Amino acid sequence: MKILFLGTGAADFPEDPQGVVGFRRTASALINDDLLIDPGPWVLDAIKEFNVDISKIKYIINTHNHSDHFCESTLSYLCTQGAEFIKTEDEGTISFGEYEIEILKGNHTISVSHFIIKNNGSCLFYGLDGAWLQYKEIESIWKNKPDLGVFDATLGFISQDYRLFEHNNLNMVIEMKKSIGKDIKKYVISHMAYTLHTDHSTLSKEMEKHDIITAYDGMIIEF
Ligand SMILES: [Zn+2]
Ligand SMILES: [Zn+2]
Repeated sequence: MKILFLGTGAADFPEDPQGVVGFRRTASALINDDLLIDPGPWVLDAIKEFNVDISKIKYIINTHNHSDHFCESTLSYLCTQGAEFIKTEDEGTISFGEYEIEILKGNHTISVSHFIIKNNGSCLFYGLDGAWLQYKEIESIWKNKPDLGVFDATLGFISQDYRLFEHNNLNMVIEMKKSIGKDIKKYVISHMAYTLHTDHSTLSKEMEKHDIITAYDGMIIEF
């Protein structure tokens, strides 16, 4: 499988990103050129920036309808270009094309779907948005042993904050990684709020100490 991070930011995106240190587009990802996770407000900008062939996007799924993950006009436009919107609100397993997706519920302010995506023998866990994994999620991770896990890292290193009940801080991600261990082969963080994080190079150096990859807009990982 291949993942292209179209955006790695959170809901605090600035009106005008010009000159904003650590600016990241809202979090969305493209799997294998044909499966889009979250038709957010910056997806079309990212598609242009990273030379994505829009005609190859066949399927769109959505984690939840917060405005940084779901934008009606982005969705409508992509559907006019041939993509199909597949509903992923309910827990359970769905299959389409060469994908099998288990939908799990995350820990967030509104109902959010996290995904275990299987395709051609590889497996991805995609867990944005959310704070600390729910027990059903860890059970599925133990069972499926994903090759890659994408974790919410909205809050940087802040602590003593009410948002810890809807998003992770970095110490939570580090602790989950220590506890999950090799049941996920590679760990990646995304959904970084620019108001709560440093620039990419400082953050990625810090996370390298924990063997965690810091995603950036345009990053591609094959696994
Ligand atoms: Zn979000
Ligand atoms: Zn959200």
